Amino acid sequence: MSKSKSSESIKVVVRCRPMNEKEKAAKFGMVVSVDVKLGQIIVRNPREAAANEHPKVFTYDSVYDWNSKQIDLYDETFRPLVDSVLLGFNGTIFAYGQTGTGKTYTMEGVRNDPERRGVIPNSFEHVFTHISRSQNQQYLVRASYLEIYQEEIKDLLSKDQTRRLELRERPDTGVYVKDLSSFVTKSVREIEHVMNVGNQNRSVGATNMNEHSSRSHAIFVITVECSELGVDGENHIRVGKLNLVDLAGSERQTKTGAQGERLKEATKINLSLSALGNVISSLVDGRSSHIPYRDSKLTRLLQDSLGGNARTVMVANIGPASYNLEETLTTLRYSNRAKNIKNKPRINEDPKDALLREFQEEIARLKEQLEKRSGKKKRRRRRRGGEGSDTEDLEEGETEEDEEEGEDKGDYWREQQEKLERERKAIMEDHSLVAEEKLRLLKEKEKKMEDLKREKDAGEMLSAKVKAMESKLLVGGKNIVDHTNEQQKMLELKRQEITEQKRREREMQQQMESRDEETLELKETYSSLQQEVDIKTKKLKKLFAKLQAVKAEIHDIQEAHINERQELEQTQNELTRDLKLKHLIIENFIPLEEKNKIVHRAYFDEEDEYWKTKPITRLEDDQQMMTRPLSAVGYRRPLSHHARKSMMMRPDMRYKAENIMVLDMDLPARTTKEYQEPVIAPKVAAALESALRDEDEIQVDASGFHSSLGSTPPTSGSLKKPKSGRLRSVKKSGTPTSPFSPSSPGSQLYPQSRGLVPK
Ligand code: ADP
Ligand code: MG
Repeated sequence: MSKSKSSESIKVVVRCRPMNEKEKAAKFGMVVSVDVKLGQIIVRNPREAAANEHPKVFTYDSVYDWNSKQIDLYDETFRPLVDSVLLGFNGTIFAYGQTGTGKTYTMEGVRNDPERRGVIPNSFEHVFTHISRSQNQQYLVRASYLEIYQEEIKDLLSKDQTRRLELRERPDTGVYVKDLSSFVTKSVREIEHVMNVGNQNRSVGATNMNEHSSRSHAIFVITVECSELGVDGENHIRVGKLNLVDLAGSERQTKTGAQGERLKEATKINLSLSALGNVISSLVDGRSSHIPYRDSKLTRLLQDSLGGNARTVMVANIGPASYNLEETLTTLRYSNRAKNIKNKPRINEDPKDALLREFQEEIARLKEQLEKRSGKKKRRRRRRGGEGSDTEDLEEGETEEDEEEGEDKGDYWREQQEKLERERKAIMEDHSLVAEEKLRLLKEKEKKMEDLKREKDAGEMLSAKVKAMESKLLVGGKNIVDHTNEQQKMLELKRQEITEQKRREREMQQQMESRDEETLELKETYSSLQQEVDIKTKKLKKLFAKLQAVKAEIHDIQEAHINERQELEQTQNELTRDLKLKHLIIENFIPLEEKNKIVHRAYFDEEDEYWKTKPITRLEDDQQMMTRPLSAVGYRRPLSHHARKSMMMRPDMRYKAENIMVLDMDLPARTTKEYQEPVIAPKVAAALESALRDEDEIQVDASGFHSSLGSTPPTSGSLKKPKSGRLRSVKKSGTPTSPFSPSSPGSQLYPQSRGLVPK
């Protein structure tokens, strides 16, 4: 199969399911026959058979008929792939085909029936059996489960089933799903549980499971990390990833009559599948340098498996009944093309993102901590246990055996506790001590006991953590000589030999057949003219038949292309119509200026594959506007260092702007009016003023005292304050200066009306 060591073809096998009860009842004809020995599928069209049509023959790596057992498929086709995953290769198994032809049956099978278990559960068994038989290796097994539906990725193991995940790319590890959850599993049961949880989430999300599963791709990922001591004395880690892909049904989604949302849905559903087809075509074509991996989530995610560094097996599932003829032929052609894809499998050694390495380092770190703790204790113990306790012995025991250390530790704690208890009792019984003293000593002892307990708990927690982490790392049967294991291994080897034999046989048969055809062209010597005519006629007939078959194939393919083209054209028409509508709306309802602004801001995000708009900024240099200046952190506006310092140090208000309370309250609308004093004639006002004046404030009307009056501050102060309103009102009523104003020494005490206010 593989010509050079570095490159090998994708393995393509075809499996035909049996007729189901309905098909039997409806008496549909069989159009498919399977030649297991030759690895060929032969399709006869019953209608054209009458017209002497030749059957269509497709050859594959191997084919399986309706009697095929799940375990046969596994042993012959999938086991070698999973084995290479265990060696550190990436591997992918695709199940392709029309809905109802057995994709899920092949991948998952019947859950509770060991005979009818599919590839996924069989690979669980395989992986964990391999680990249990391994020697001097450490393993870490993880599982993830995701689904692609309408070009959206959903994590089937996450709690939040509404979340959609994104694809990301890193130069060292390639394309990956961001935030995809993965679970470390330690046994077949655990990984089966992971699968069941995912399956439940898959069906819970769907209103109609069949409908949903036929339109979505499910990918179960098993990552096996293996650490082994290399010849260089260093630990090396190999990571193999197994993708188990149950693709969406390959049948054409009808787009006829669909518009708007429904059309979009229909075009999106099989986008990944048609992108897969395009990737296969351009890989096989050889002329195209651009492989459209980026066209869909599925092809991006499985880029390695198609023309990359992974090993890949594609299972094409078909149905045998006549009404499926068209789809069956499409599937056979599709998978026939995929045979020619070349991959370059490579072992992933010591990748940066190996979880196993992290685990090992963490365990080492924790152990070191634990060691330190016990070291402290040992020293303490040695100091204390002077009389006869065998320290030498203890130390040996500790370095040699972990278990003993554990027991030892228990003894130590018990000993300490008992000792403290004894001391406590002694204090209690000691009558020579004063009550207070006793209490103090007791408290001290109690505190010591508590400390002891806390220390013990911490130590236990640490060792429990180490144990938990270590238990996740799986190791094989160590140095136990397992007889049954040996026998099983032998059995497996034999089985592998047999499958290899079968494969070689099939290849030979295929080669013989092709050689048979070649000999047709060889020159022969003929004994008579008649013989020559006979032989040449026979040859001609054979070649003519071949020509007809090829012609028919060309015709079929052309027809399929025409169909596909028509459909694409139809989709294009619908989309163009949609586009025209959008244009109409934009042209008529959105001002040109606004449109240009948006066009200017729009950009295509390669990562998310969406058009996005840049946020509005006033400055071209948006960095400046988008971030808050450093000096403003914690404040409402930028502040200089000096201002901040002064704010704290200076007593005045100069820099306290930030400290002024801001009460963003709306004042209610006013419902009252300003009090307006009645207008009083100056004479009356003066009379009132004098009448209301306090006794001691009454001024004697004597011009001789006047000057002394004006300069007495206390008098004017006491006068001004309580009566300021009045004074103002006096002013208002036309008096230009206060009668007592010191600035107008010559004013009259009772001002005369100037005629502005009517008397
Ligand atoms: P798909 O996933 O391709 O839509 P399923 O795996 O659900 O198809 O198969 C449809 C039905 O056919 C199921 O009931 C399944 O049990 C049955 N079936 C498929 N393949 C086989 C097979 N090789 N032998 C027996 N039953 C099969
Ligand atoms: Mg299915």
